[in-house]
Amino acid sequence: MIWLRPHYLLCTQGYSGKGYSTYFVDNMNAVVHRLRHVPGEKIRLTFGPDSLCACCPHNTDGLCDTQDKVSRFDRKTVEYFGLHEGEYVYQDLIRAIDAQMTPAMLEDICRGCAWYPVSACKKNICGK
Ligand code: SF4
Ligand code: SF4
Repeated sequence: MIWLRPHYLLCTQGYSGKGYSTYFVDNMNAVVHRLRHVPGEKIRLTFGPDSLCACCPHNTDGLCDTQDKVSRFDRKTVEYFGLHEGEYVYQDLIRAIDAQMTPAMLEDICRGCAWYPVSACKKNICGK
């Protein structure tokens, strides 16, 4: 099963093939392909390192190089959408999140992310 930390419910929607290393991108491509194209694909939401961190050069023994920042992204995502650890159907969950998301909320969650100005996150999540 794919494990995702909360803010990756958002990043997986904006992802367009760029990432931290070839290994990371190959893994992210495979994960995102399943999430986007396999109907009913389940995820386990986890408040720690996930299936994407597993292949990331910024992961050292389960701790992210930018732990404070990603913890804030995760915490805000959890708070805005009332999430808990456990199993979800990915496409159902992101549909529910996207229906509630506003550009101001996304900006608040993603503040400090280098991808924000150059990614499709806002367009794909907020529809604008
Ligand atoms: S802007 Fe950054 S943190 Fe926000 S969804 Fe996109 S990649 Fe993730
Ligand atoms: S280790 Fe950090 S940068 Fe890498 S995938 Fe995990 S949260 Fe993202």
